[in-house]
Order: sequence, then C-alpha cells, then structure tokens
Amino acid sequence: MRLILLGPPGAGKGSQAQVLSERLGLTHIASGDLLRHAVRAKSPLGLQAEQYMSRGELVPDRLVTQMVLEHLAGPRGAGVVLDGFPRTQAQAVELDHALDRARAPIDLVLYLRTSHEMIVRRLAGRWICRSCDANYHTTNLPPKRAGICDRCGGPLEQREDDRPDTIRQRLRVYETQTAPLLTYYRDRGVLHEVNGDLSVEALFRELGQLFRHKRLLPEAAG
Ligand code: AMP
Repeated sequence: MRLILLGPPGAGKGSQAQVLSERLGLTHIASGDLLRHAVRAKSPLGLQAEQYMSRGELVPDRLVTQMVLEHLAGPRGAGVVLDGFPRTQAQAVELDHALDRARAPIDLVLYLRTSHEMIVRRLAGRWICRSCDANYHTTNLPPKRAGICDRCGGPLEQREDDRPDTIRQRLRVYETQTAPLLTYYRDRGVLHEVNGDLSVEALFRELGQLFRHKRLLPEAAG
C-alpha cells in the first residue's frame, strides 16, 4: 500500500504516519524528519536546507525530491506512507514519474482537513524527540516520562519552527504552494478527505475501515 498524507502543519500527519507504520508495517518517509537529520548532521544538504526551514519556507524542490526518492528506493516493508512530501506540484510530478518507472503507483492520498483552532492547539503542544524524531503532544500523545522519548529514551524538545510567527508563515506557504495539490490528486481520482480534527486513535480506526473497503488491507487486518 502506498499512501500520501496531505494537510496543513498541525493536521496530525506525523502522528498518524507513525501509528500506520507501527501497526501496519508501512515504511514512514517524512521529508521534514529527513531534513532535520541532515541539519543536525551538518551535511551539505542540511547546511543548504536550514535557512529555509528556520524561516518557515519550503526547501528548494530539487534538494527535497532527490532526498525523498533515494529513500523511496530503499526497503519498503508492507508499503510506504509519505508524510510532508510532495508539497509542490513540481515534487508531485517528479514523484509520479519515479513511481511510474517502478510500476508502483500511489493508492491513496489522504487529505487531513483540519480546523484552524485545532492546528494552533496541536502545534503549541507539540514535542519531538531530538534523536529519533518521534512525535508527542502534551495532552493528545504524552510520553510516559516527561521530556523523554518512549521509543529511544532521547530528549524531547519543541521545534524551532513551531514559534507563532514561523507557524503563520508555514500556514501561508501551505495555502499557496501545497493546497493546489488537492486538485492535482482529485483529478487523478486518488484523493480521499478525512477529518483531521479526530484524535490519532479515532482517525486510525476510520482509516482501517477505509483501507479494507478499498481492499488495500485484508478483511481481518488493522
Ligand atoms: P515538516 O516537519 O513536514 O513540518 O517540515 C518542516 C520544514 O521542512 C518545512 O517547513 C520546510 O521548510 C521543510 N520541508 C519538509 N518537507 C518539505 C518538502 N516536501 N518540500 C520543501 N520543504 C520541505
């Protein structure tokens, strides 16, 4: 199963992708996580990406697309869930070409439609693990021990680009550059809208039903 999660910052793409990966064995590819790793490692890609990310702008297409396609070529387990990529039409076109070549088209693009109020609440309470990028939220998805990652024991921190002024910029960028992808995928007949205001668990249950209905999962699974 090959999925794309689309939606504004704070729609819950990262948390849902994490659960889909843990419970359905999908490989979670998050362009933001890959970029943050590159920034921490001070790799040539990271050094170029950092200035855009700290301003809440998109990293140039050519850099991000190459990075994600390299990861897509790796092991995929039971399938793949793309989180945060594509974010522009140019990225979507490149992705389509690569998947066509691999004869492995996208099965479903899930649009997490989310209210403004929910976006603000989610981003303000968000914490991520500095070592493994696991997502947490003070009320919705708290870690077992405050400030410590359940998965790897690493330290939790708030993202630098979750500051109010940068959040506003990221939402503007989403509306102008990423939201047009909804039409792109609707025209291809793969877009499916879901309620991004639901909790991670409630949305996961809904997705399980959707996947079975679309025969992307066996009847008994999920
Ligand atoms: P995210 O973790 O998905 O919210 O991404 C954090 C930041 O990484 C974004 O605000 C962008 O600066 C950058 N980024 C992540 N994915 C992409 C992408 N597909 N295209 C361009 N920039 C991206």
